[in-house]
Amino acid sequence: MSIVSDIGVIYMSGKKRGQKVCEKCNCVNGVRAYECKECDAPFKMKKYRKGNKKKQVEDHKTLNRGDLIRVVGGNGCHYIDRNGDRHYFTDRGKYLVQSTTTDGIMTYGKHGHQYIYMGERKQSKLIDSGYWDRHKIILLKDADPKSPHSIFGSPKGSRSRA
Ligand SMILES: [Zn+2]
Repeated sequence: MSIVSDIGVIYMSGKKRGQKVCEKCNCVNGVRAYECKECDAPFKMKKYRKGNKKKQVEDHKTLNRGDLIRVVGGNGCHYIDRNGDRHYFTDRGKYLVQSTTTDGIMTYGKHGHQYIYMGERKQSKLIDSGYWDRHKIILLKDADPKSPHSIFGSPKGSRSRA
């Protein structure tokens, strides 16, 4: 028996169902181990959570017309009621970027045009206990240069129909 096949046999027999073998030291670990119990080498996890690639947008000015973003709940402009509860003005959901300003993003969402504030938190001049606050947004999809409005379709009375 050659050396190569010996190693093959040891490797095969050492690995059982529900176990995984460390790439560095060949030590057998439980299938749910995050790192090797012998050498602490991290295991590559096969399953990645969906949406892991989608990053929070730090600088809204990097967005382009036609980019699809998602507003995540629990942030953005709000007012605080007598009980101290926050009520948010912006619906969470998808918005299509139209343009950006210094302090925010002009978008088109399911309720039509929507301004998404991205500046510093400040008190509203119009509403008592109202606050402008930065929204948390995630870039879902880069602009499709061929049809930047394909996601929501053409709005009613769109010039493209006339
Ligand atoms: Zn190891």
